[in-house]
Amino acid sequence: MKKKLALILIVLMVSLLGFVGGVSAQTVTYHPSLVHKDGAMAYEHMKYLAYEIGPRVAGTGNERKAEQYVKSQFERMGFTTEVQEFNYTRGGATISSSNVIAYKPGKSSKQVIVGAHYDSVSAGRGVDDNASGVGVMLEVAEVLKKINTPYSIVFIAFGAEEQGLRGSNYYTSQMTEDEIENTVGMINLDSLAVGDQMYVYGSPGEDGFIRDQALKIVEKKKLNIDTNPGLNPDYPAGTTGDWSDHAPFKRAGIPIGYLESTNWKIGDLDGYTQTVKHGGVWHTKNDTIEFIEQEFPGRIQEHLSSFSVLLTDLLKFMNKTSTAK
Ligand SMILES: [Zn+2]
Repeated sequence: MKKKLALILIVLMVSLLGFVGGVSAQTVTYHPSLVHKDGAMAYEHMKYLAYEIGPRVAGTGNERKAEQYVKSQFERMGFTTEVQEFNYTRGGATISSSNVIAYKPGKSSKQVIVGAHYDSVSAGRGVDDNASGVGVMLEVAEVLKKINTPYSIVFIAFGAEEQGLRGSNYYTSQMTEDEIENTVGMINLDSLAVGDQMYVYGSPGEDGFIRDQALKIVEKKKLNIDTNPGLNPDYPAGTTGDWSDHAPFKRAGIPIGYLESTNWKIGDLDGYTQTVKHGGVWHTKNDTIEFIEQEFPGRIQEHLSSFSVLLTDLLKFMNKTSTAK
């Protein structure tokens, strides 16, 4: 009951901030029947990004609106928040984008980075790719804001992922040796909603501790999350490819974890074909709430809920030195 009251208070605060910020309050409130459920806040953030804003192509006004939305949410939660601007050239044009960064102190000054890109391609609404990941990140930030986590957490919403991992590449290019040394891991969230199976991946070898600890939580909480079965020798069991924002961190020598939903058992066994029923949905006109809910009833809710539960526990109990049992 106490938890429910706290959530109602959050809803009221969001509504108030919505009025103050000139954002329609109605669109940011959480449906009362959903507020106590894991994944419900993630769903509302996802819907806001994909429908109140729309497709969020890097360098456009919509990407900027999404940046402002994410920033306002982190600030409402009370985090010190920063916008890191960057430019890049593409087809002769200079494009401006940004990363939104929020800092949460923990018991240790050593930090974990949690990231999700907020830009999208122009097709569809970018629901799965990647309003879903940003939604889960914002929900988990909200849940953890008053909890003293073992590590300090840096939440980052990356810009311009779809145009060559621009935001995450820029962020890592600005990290000092000390910062890299101080980072125990990076957890990337990308495309959580539509794939047939939920997965957690990690770095190969000893650096795979994030995946290993995540899989223990999965077992304990009876979540339906697996890891890459390793049917394709190019992507050994438990690992994945370098196609999203975890890649620049991995290159910098930081252990990574990566949450995603897709299907490693179909297509070219490369994790690209997300569903048996409709193939890949990301980067198509079908990346909308209407399509996903009609074709896969209940899937979005199940995925957002499971990933939120997993990421929350992972950040609450993460321990770099613990050995797998
Ligand atoms: Zn993506």
